[in-house]
Amino acid sequence: MAGHILIIEDEEKLARFIELELIYEGYTVEKATDGRTGLVLAQSKHFDLIALDLMLPGLNGFEVLRRIRQTSSVPIILLTARDDTMDKVAGLDGGANDYITKPFAIEELLARIRAVLRNTSPANENNKNERFYTVGKLRLNPHSREVWVGEAPIDLTKKEFDLLAYLIQHKGQVLSREQLLDSVWGYDYIGKTNTIDVYIRYLRVKIEEPFGEKFIQTVRGVGYIIRE
Ligand code: CA
Repeated sequence: MAGHILIIEDEEKLARFIELELIYEGYTVEKATDGRTGLVLAQSKHFDLIALDLMLPGLNGFEVLRRIRQTSSVPIILLTARDDTMDKVAGLDGGANDYITKPFAIEELLARIRAVLRNTSPANENNKNERFYTVGKLRLNPHSREVWVGEAPIDLTKKEFDLLAYLIQHKGQVLSREQLLDSVWGYDYIGKTNTIDVYIRYLRVKIEEPFGEKFIQTVRGVGYIIRE
């Protein structure tokens, strides 16, 4: 079960050693020795897994992890230099799939790579995490319930998120206030249709006004639409 692996590691001897072992195991490998180069590679090519060192020159490993996770659920194993619990917790919270502490036996790294690839293979549910909805600079992940405008993560309440998700999942369709109420709040919701206007206003304050963007358009007398 080989695959294409990216190693982001500034210790060149270690990176070379891992590369040779992986090639021996049948993987194809690319290497980067600084964070920025690694990030560019990760964003421009398909990899089945990334081995990411935390202590990197340029862009550190946490920042590389954060930026990769904005657009991809590619499996990532962290290579941590210290036996630092906080680093591991932060790394796993940041979306890493696993970590290994240096110095490690290469057999252990290979075993972890196999395990992570097994858990994230296409037969698994995890791949749906890679589905994002986008409109211009607006990006929404319906599974992790995260939203970004450009690089900025946006903090939305549950209803704000549900409303935005419904609009973006029906991109290009004009949606009436009644339809939005029924779909987002539910048929048994007893409220006024101007609830929608209030929540659209909340969304605009969070995702449009700070960025000078316009994602949600008002269709006078009908409702709202998101379109490219
Ligand atoms: Ca390092």
